[in-house]
Amino acid sequence: MLIDSYDRVVDYLRVSVTERCNFRCQYCMPEKPFSWVPKENLLSFEELFEFMKIAIDEGVKKIRITGGEPLLREDLDKFIKMIYDYKPSVDLAMTTNAFLLKGTAQKLVDAGLKRINVSIDTLKPEVAQNIAGKDVLKNVLQGVDEALKVGLKVKVNMVPMKGMNADEIIDVLEYCKERNMSIRFIEYMENSHAKVDITGLKSNELLEILSAKYEFKDEGFDGSSPSHYYTMSDGYKFGIIEPYEDDFCKKCNRIRLTAEGNLIPCLYFDEAMSIREAIKRGDIKGAALVLKEVVRTKPEKNRWGGEDGELSSRAFYETGG
Ligand code: SAM
Ligand code: SF4
Repeated sequence: MLIDSYDRVVDYLRVSVTERCNFRCQYCMPEKPFSWVPKENLLSFEELFEFMKIAIDEGVKKIRITGGEPLLREDLDKFIKMIYDYKPSVDLAMTTNAFLLKGTAQKLVDAGLKRINVSIDTLKPEVAQNIAGKDVLKNVLQGVDEALKVGLKVKVNMVPMKGMNADEIIDVLEYCKERNMSIRFIEYMENSHAKVDITGLKSNELLEILSAKYEFKDEGFDGSSPSHYYTMSDGYKFGIIEPYEDDFCKKCNRIRLTAEGNLIPCLYFDEAMSIREAIKRGDIKGAALVLKEVVRTKPEKNRWGGEDGELSSRAFYETGG
């Protein structure tokens, strides 16, 4: 079992399979980065899988594939199948912008994928164009329809931002509710890669908008999820992720692996250790030692709520959020 210095059990690994993306979301990657990680620096699926087997053997029970946009990486279904075949009981999920889901969703299900999280910030084509830098909405919504049709469980993430999509909080929630998909509103997290003029809605502002229309009960946190949950009178549940509170850090159970092989103990901080060389030379013990060291050095909490005004320089498209 992997246990950090604050007695938290680490059993959740998020794996970013690429930092590349077909969107240019204002809060994540408004411009193509000055230098991409060259393709030859990416770990192959076989190499990523070698590390994932170690992590699973050490107690990881939940794996999320993310990016950048994971569906840009060829043969993703084969990678999913490798993980599923190794341990079918692993809770395997993926986060995607859904643009390429139409036509691939069935293959992913056949490979063993059960759940996806999809980012839907708006239902208006022109707002989607403004946020993502291109006309994406039609494909995204078709992708979601297809995912539901083939039996994937779908959760939606929305980042509400003032002057952009804040007026659509209810509409996006209703869209999700009609399709039996849960929604989590993510407070915009400032970082040095995002556009500078974004102002995200804080949870109190979100709750004010939602309470004008709905009655709901505060359910608090559910397990290790960073999401604060609320249940409406008809039973529908929605969540809010509030990184500026550190409450969820107390139960944080996750570490992140980048496509190059950097293992990151906390989303906020730059610190990471590489498993790349160990995996490349087939040194299973060496990679397991790095894993344990990263878990040991996991910080107590993030600093989004910090008073020093320090801006996180960690790129979401690199860590996978
Ligand atoms: N491309 C996929 C997608 O967009 O779902 C997966 C990667 S993306 C980095 C994962 C999640 O991070 C998305 O739900 C996105 O909304 C969220 N995200 C990215 N930048 C963010 C920021 N600055 N603040 C809050 N959430 C952010
Ligand atoms: Fe791409 Fe996802 Fe980042 Fe948007 S949030 S730029 S879709 S990685």
